[in-house]
Amino acid sequence: MSNETIVIIGAGVLGLSTALHLQETLTPRPNLLIIAQYAPGDESIDYATPWSGAHYRPIPDSSPQGLFEASLAEKTYAHFKTYALTYPEAGIRFMPGVEMLESPPAAYLNLDGRYSAIDDFRVLGKEELAAGAEWGASYTTYCVNTPVYIAHLLRRYLLNGGLIVKKRVAGIEDAFAVAGARDGSGPVRTVVNCSGTAMGLVKDPKCFVTRGQTCLVTNAAPAPSTQTRQNSDGTWTFVIPRPLHGGTIIGGTKEERDMEDRPRAETRRVLLEKAAKAFPELLDATGRWEVVRDIVGRRPSREGGMRVESEEVARGRTVVHAYGAGGRGVEISRGVAELVGELVGKGWGKKSERAKL
Ligand SMILES: Cc1cc2nc3c(=O)[nH]c(=O)nc-3n(C[C@H](O)[C@H](O)[C@H](O)COP(=O)(O)OP(=O)(O)OC[C@H]3O[C@@H](n4cnc5c(N)ncnc54)[C@H](O)[C@@H]3O)c2cc1C
Repeated sequence: MSNETIVIIGAGVLGLSTALHLQETLTPRPNLLIIAQYAPGDESIDYATPWSGAHYRPIPDSSPQGLFEASLAEKTYAHFKTYALTYPEAGIRFMPGVEMLESPPAAYLNLDGRYSAIDDFRVLGKEELAAGAEWGASYTTYCVNTPVYIAHLLRRYLLNGGLIVKKRVAGIEDAFAVAGARDGSGPVRTVVNCSGTAMGLVKDPKCFVTRGQTCLVTNAAPAPSTQTRQNSDGTWTFVIPRPLHGGTIIGGTKEERDMEDRPRAETRRVLLEKAAKAFPELLDATGRWEVVRDIVGRRPSREGGMRVESEEVARGRTVVHAYGAGGRGVEISRGVAELVGELVGKGWGKKSERAKL
C-alpha cells in the first residue's frame, strides 16, 4: 500500500463507486479517505442518491456531451450485468423496461443503431402503443434500490480498508489538509470532487438543481417492469420497482431551479392520478395506491452536462472533478468511476514512490 492518501469528497453513488474502483485498480493500493457531509443512512434534500428511483432509460442525444454520457451509461450497464449476479444483495435487478412517448423528439424517430448495446431493444409497433402514444420501445434494463446499493458500496469500501469522515468541508483546499488521518497515511496530492452539486466548493456558474418529487408506494404485487410515459403536456410518468422489497417509485417531476424542499400535495395527487390512468394493473384491489411516503430530492444538474476533468490547482496538487450528473448519476456511475480511475491513475505508481521518500 502507498502511504499517499487520496481524498474523495462525497459519499453519493459517484463518490462511493469511484472510491471502490480506485481501491480495486490502483497499484500500489492507495490510502483512501472519503469526506462527506452526508453518507448512506442519512436523509437530506441535498443528498441526491437515496432519492433516486433508480432506473436506466437510454436517451438518444447525439450532442458530444450526450454521446459521452451515453458511453458512460453503456459501461455501467455492462458492469451491472455481472455485478447484479455477483452481489445479489446490492439491490440491482434486471427487468423489462417499456417506454412510450406522446410527443417524441425527432432523435427517437431515427435511432440509427444507437441502442445496440441495450439487450432486447425493440421499437414497438403502432398496434402495441397505448392510446395517445406516438413512439414506444421495450428493452432489458435494470432498477436499483439506491439506499441499499450505496450502503453495500460503503460496506465493501470499509472492508477494503477505506476510511470515511463525516463532515462538511468549506473548500477543496481543506481536503488537502487532512494528511495523517490515520497511522501511516501520508500526504494528499489528489482530491476527487464527487460533491454532487459542487456548490460552495467550485465556482461553476453552470451548476443548478432540478427538483424531483416522487412517491413511494407498496402495492401488493411489485411492478414486474419499469415503465415510462411521456405525456402530451410534456410531463413524465414512471414506475420504478425497487429490488429487494423496496416498494415502487411513482414519479415524477423535473423542476429546474425549484428550491421547495417540502412535498407538494397537488403534485402528489397529479402524479398518482396519471400513473393510475397509465398503469391501472398496478393498483390495489380497491383501485388505490398504498402510499408509504413522498420523496423530494434535488438532482445536481449542470448546463451542458456533468464535468469529469482533472485540474492542477497548485504545484503537485490535483483535483479530479466528477460532479453535476443531473438525473443520470446512477446510470453512469461505473463509467464515471472508470474515467476518474484513469485520470487519477496517470503516473500513480511514480507519485506514490515519491510520496514514500
Ligand atoms: C427524485 C430523483 C429521481 C432520480 N432518478 C434517477 C434515475 O432513475 N436514474 C439515475 O441514474 N439518476 C436518477 N437521479 C439522479 C441521481 O440521484 C443523481 O444524479 C446522483 O445521485 C448524483 O450522485 P452524486 O454522488 O454526484 O451526488 P450526491 O448523491 O448528492 O452526493 C453528494 C455527496 O457530496 C457530499 N458533499 C457535498 N458538498 C460537500 C461539502 N462541502 N463537504 C463535504 N461533503 C460534501 C454530500 O454530503 C454527499 O455525500 C434522480 C434524482 C432524484 C432527486
